[in-house]
Amino acid sequence: MELKELYQEIILDHGKNPRNKGVCSNYNFDAQAHNPLCGDKVHIYLNLDKDKKLVDISFEGEGCAISLASASILTEILKGKDLNLTKKISEEILGMIKNKEKITINSLTEDQITTISSLAGVQEFPMRVKCATMVWHTFLSALNKKN
Ligand code: ZN
Repeated sequence: MELKELYQEIILDHGKNPRNKGVCSNYNFDAQAHNPLCGDKVHIYLNLDKDKKLVDISFEGEGCAISLASASILTEILKGKDLNLTKKISEEILGMIKNKEKITINSLTEDQITTISSLAGVQEFPMRVKCATMVWHTFLSALNKKN
């Protein structure tokens, strides 16, 4: 299978069967965003414990397959990680989607890098870049907003 097909398959899978969908219990941070160009909406919920570990994360949303896949991938990749690492991962992924920057974080598995890389395919479709990036910005803004 070509890499491009593999990436498309990952996006379709996450878009059709989003992981961590719903409102997680005991969330203490959340944020929402809306992309009027495409109609995508997302609301993410985070449970950060006192050691600044992201013990749970979930999202509710509607919109195109790319926005749902990106939200699903975000929850899957960031769940269980330390706050500082989740910020670094989010910033690198935004750099990758927007500017083709390489992912340098070495604590991610090869499978996780492949999953993340599938989001970079939107570069060929400038109108869809926001569909992929919105949830990562929303995650970062949730961290600055305690309930
Ligand atoms: Zn969209």
